[in-house]
Amino acid sequence: MKTFSTVPGKERSRDVACNLCLSNHYKTLLRSADFLFVKCSSCGLIYQNPQPFFADLKERYTTDYFKYEFNNEENFFGLMKLGLKDIGMDQLKPENGRGCFLDIGCATGKLMEDMRGRGWQVQGVDLCRKSAEYGWKKRKVRIFAGTLEQAAFQSGSFNIIHSSHLIEHVPDPRAFIREIKRILLPGGQAIITTPNISGFQARLFRKKWRSAIGDHLTLFSVSTLKRLLREEGFKVLKIRTWGGLAAGTAPLIIKKPADYLAKKFGFGDVMLFLVEK
Ligand SMILES: [Zn+2]
Repeated sequence: MKTFSTVPGKERSRDVACNLCLSNHYKTLLRSADFLFVKCSSCGLIYQNPQPFFADLKERYTTDYFKYEFNNEENFFGLMKLGLKDIGMDQLKPENGRGCFLDIGCATGKLMEDMRGRGWQVQGVDLCRKSAEYGWKKRKVRIFAGTLEQAAFQSGSFNIIHSSHLIEHVPDPRAFIREIKRILLPGGQAIITTPNISGFQARLFRKKWRSAIGDHLTLFSVSTLKRLLREEGFKVLKIRTWGGLAAGTAPLIIKKPADYLAKKFGFGDVMLFLVEK
């Protein structure tokens, strides 16, 4: 089954250059009624082209998106914790009892609440205003409703920045990564999780892959995301991928070894990067 995606209404769109290398040369890769993914002929980045204007795009993240996040709150939180556990950070406490944690694309703030419980000062950012309001009402966690750039945090504000399943939605991933670097403290760490188009499922399912959807503007591979992070001056500490076959696509006797192998050899369906400033 595909990931939730909005059905775009009347959006204006435009041609965009490759976000990684600025080339305008590409080949059509995946086409459906909802999207057209191209592959940069120069660096191999896979992105949607054309792309909607941001003023139109942001309208996708309203009521229906809130419902999706709200209904899947526990599920997504569980997955995030598993990812963090994999890199030994699921029970992380701030050094000397003080530390600032930012969750970008925090939805209803469940992870923020968890981190606050271990002594972190927490801040969130989410484009969906309803999610931000719900987070404050239910958990008293502060969530800025808008983009990371609009939040305009001071340089060097955070020890840890977490962003799960967000970078594939943003129109300018390079600017996004650059902003994360700016607002991290020196030595601070960022955790970025996103679907892996170099994974086994993406290769198998092509345009039917669950993460090939209209809301995902860029589909990174391990190598294209690594390149972006390194070019923006991050040191890559850990890369993990997981998920060999989605639940329901194969019997357990096949799914279990597929999951094991995907993780071991780095062709899992989702990838996580831990990087340091
Ligand atoms: Zn390129």
